Amino acid sequence: MHELSIVLSIIEQIEEETAKRGGGQVEAIYVRVGVLSGVDTEALRFAYDLAREGTGLAGSRLEIEAVLLLVFCPQCSTTHAPRPPNIACPCCITPEQEILHGRELEVRAFEIVQ
Ligand SMILES: [Zn+2]
Repeated sequence: MHELSIVLSIIEQIEEETAKRGGGQVEAIYVRVGVLSGVDTEALRFAYDLAREGTGLAGSRLEIEAVLLLVFCPQCSTTHAPRPPNIACPCCITPEQEILHGRELEVRAFEIVQ
C-alpha cells in the first residue's frame, strides 16, 4: 500500500526530530495533503493507525489538512480553483495550467509534550 510507505517515512522523520529535541511524547502530527498528491486521506489515516503501534508515536494522532487545487493561467494571468480532472481555464479554456497548490504532501507541524 502506497499510503503505508508514506506514513512509515513520516513516522521515521518525526522520531528523528523528537530525538533531536531531547525526546518527549508526540501528541499530534499535522500533514497537508493536496487533492492531486495521489494520496487517499482515509487510507492514510488507516495506515497511520497501524504503523504507529510499537513506535514512540503510538499515542499520537494524525491531523490531515486537505489542500484544494489552485492553478495559474499563463494566458489570462489569473488564478482559479478548478475541479479535477478538468483543470482548463474557465475564461480562455487553455488546458495548460500551472499548478500552484494541490500536489502537497508534507508534514506542516507536530506537537511534543516533554
Ligand atoms: Zn485563461
